Amino acid sequence: MTTRLISDLHLHPGAPEITEGFVHWLEESARGCEALYLLGDIFEAWIGDDLLDLAGADPTGNADLAARVARALKRLADDGTAVYLMHGNRDFLLGERFATEAGATLLADPSVVSLGDKRVLLMHGDSLCTLDTAYQAFRAQARSPLWQAQVLSMPLQERIALAKQLREQSGEANSSKAEDIMDVTPDEVVKSMAEQGVTTLIHGHTHRPAVHECEVDGQPARRFVLGDWRPDRGWEIVIEGNGEPQLKEIPLGG
Ligand code: MN
Repeated sequence: MTTRLISDLHLHPGAPEITEGFVHWLEESARGCEALYLLGDIFEAWIGDDLLDLAGADPTGNADLAARVARALKRLADDGTAVYLMHGNRDFLLGERFATEAGATLLADPSVVSLGDKRVLLMHGDSLCTLDTAYQAFRAQARSPLWQAQVLSMPLQERIALAKQLREQSGEANSSKAEDIMDVTPDEVVKSMAEQGVTTLIHGHTHRPAVHECEVDGQPARRFVLGDWRPDRGWEIVIEGNGEPQLKEIPLGG
């Protein structure tokens, strides 16, 4: 019984090597696993599930990419793997339609799941970056059903322009923020784990793959951070049976 967790692929038409590597990994390595968790930012941007209507007729390639990823995930799900999808800060508009086409179940952020003999807290990770108050204000707005309904009612072309504008703003903001603001807040990590009564947390978002030891209510605890995917390598966490989570690099391409 094997569970695999990945995040932060940031798939987009400009980086076809990552998409190829991911689809190949799904077919070769992930095949047959009991569960696959995608912990957010699978796509660099997501402007609404109606993007899927444009497959075959979208000159940007975004719609074909989305349809291809949905098909690849669906094949895995049809073979018996439980596929779970959590939102990231880039693809938080992924909805039930995409999930259904991918054979996946949308998972709330945060979620506590049983993996092997452990209860494990799963998060994308952006909610832990509490020192970034400007981003947290945007996050609160962007997760409100009203804001999402307003955005999703805009014509597709306007949404594409809005997503581009938000990414550019984010790029400008991040380059002028202190390094430590972009990482998780250690106190917030401990608080989140204590609230959920767990000693294992797995998240992505920061693109700083690592295993951190900490202490939660006097118990030794561990925080596993997934890394982002690039043309030559990805990251996964593998849990075999009741074993400890293992953070592993995945060679891609070549
Ligand atoms: Mn992220």
